[in-house]
Amino acid sequence: MKAIVFSAIGKVALEERPEPRLLAPGDALVRVRTAGICGSDLHIVDGRDGGVRLGTTMGHELVGFVETVGPEVTGLAPGDRVVSPFSVSCGSCFYCRRGLTARCVSARCLGVVDEEGRGVEGAQAELIRIPLASSTLVKLPETKHDGSPLADEEALLLGDILSTAWSTVERAGVSDGSVVAVVGCGPVGLLAVLAALHLGASAVVAVDGVAYRRERARSLGALPCAPDFELVRRAIDELTEGRGADAVIEAVGSPSALDLAIAAARPGALIGIAGYHTEEAYPLAMAPVYAKNLTLAFGRASVRPHIDRLLPHLLNGTLSPAALVTHRLPLEEGVRGYEIFRSRSEGAIKVVLTNDPAPAP
Ligand SMILES: [Zn+2]
Ligand SMILES: [Zn+2]
Repeated sequence: MKAIVFSAIGKVALEERPEPRLLAPGDALVRVRTAGICGSDLHIVDGRDGGVRLGTTMGHELVGFVETVGPEVTGLAPGDRVVSPFSVSCGSCFYCRRGLTARCVSARCLGVVDEEGRGVEGAQAELIRIPLASSTLVKLPETKHDGSPLADEEALLLGDILSTAWSTVERAGVSDGSVVAVVGCGPVGLLAVLAALHLGASAVVAVDGVAYRRERARSLGALPCAPDFELVRRAIDELTEGRGADAVIEAVGSPSALDLAIAAARPGALIGIAGYHTEEAYPLAMAPVYAKNLTLAFGRASVRPHIDRLLPHLLNGTLSPAALVTHRLPLEEGVRGYEIFRSRSEGAIKVVLTNDPAPAP
C-alpha cells in the first residue's frame, strides 16, 4: 500500500509499505478515507519530537471504514465509518476512568514507532491498524440531524484539533463573559477561538504573526492582533479596564508564545496550553507568575471523551469547523501537502489527504 513516511530529518516521502495485519485480538484494521496533516507531524519530521524511527508511517488523524476486526473487538463491524483519536486508550484504567485518556496506561500515539519497532504506524496510508479498537474508535453516523451528510473532513477534526482546542479552552476556564486571548492562529488556535466564543466568551483577542491567519480569526469573530507584547496588552487592557485576559490559550508551542500568554493574563487567570512543548527547559519568570496567581495547564489533550461530547454539536449544526480545511490532496501528493502546510503558502490552515475514489467495503 502507499504511505507517507518519515524518510529523513526534515523530509517525508511517498513509499510502498506492506499492509498492516491484526497483531492482537483487540486490534482493528481501518481503510483510511481522509487523514490530516498536523503541526505535531512537523515536530516528528523536524526531529524535535525525537525517538521516532525513520520509515515510520506518519499521521494520527483519520476517518475511514473498519475493514477487519480482531476476535475481542466489540461494538464495531466491517463497514462502520469511524473516527480515531490520535492516541489509543483502554477505557478502563485509572486514568481512562477519570477521563484522562491521554495518559492511559496503554496509550500509544498513532504514527509513532520507536527504534525498537514498538508503537503504531500512522494514518497517512491506505490502511491502519488500531490497537484497543473497541475503546478507541468512535462510529460515525452518515448524516447530520438536518439530513445533510456528515463529511469525513469535519469528523476528522474531532480526532485531534477540535477536541484539543476545546479541552484547552475548558482548562483555561472560559465561561460566560470571559475576555480571552488566543496566542497562535494555526488550526488549533482558530478552533480555540470558535470554542471560546461557543462557551460564552465576550471577546477573543487572537494573536498571530501571519496576516491571513489573523484574517481567519477575524472572520470567526475574534479581534486580530500581531504578536507584539505592547499591542496585545493594549488590545486586552481596553477590554478589561487594564486587568488582562481572564483566560489565555497558548496554541503555538514555543517559549516566546508562552511568554506572551503569561504577559496577557490577568491575576488569577488560567492559561490553557495546547502547544506541543518539546523544549527541555523553559526560563519561567516565577516572580511575576506568583504575583499574578497564574495557573498553567500543560499537556496532551484527552481527545477520546471529547469526541463523544463534541460529535452532537457537529450533528445538530451548532459547530461547523470544516471551513478550516483549506486543502485536500490525494495521498499520493502527501509530500506536497506537507510543503503547503509547512510553508503556510496558499493560505493553508488545515491540509488533509484523501484516498480517492473512496474504497467503500
Ligand atoms: Zn494532530
Ligand atoms: Zn486506559
